[in-house]
Amino acid sequence: MTYEYRCRDCDETFDVTASVAEKAAGLSPECPKCGSSNVSQVFGGFGVLSGSRASGLGGGSMCGPGAGCC
Ligand SMILES: [Zn+2]
Repeated sequence: MTYEYRCRDCDETFDVTASVAEKAAGLSPECPKCGSSNVSQVFGGFGVLSGSRASGLGGGSMCGPGAGCC
């Protein structure tokens, strides 16, 4: 599994690869940029704002196969 984290100090986002067992035991990743452990996990949901769906949300003219908006 890959988990996404964001550094609260420098706003760097980075991925942490760990097994489910390791995640359950508690991860304490450090920011690869500034070395801070003041990080928070980024959960899914932001994905809808990236990729092809973003243009559908913004343009309003992208409704078509796979868009699921009509
Ligand atoms: Zn950082």
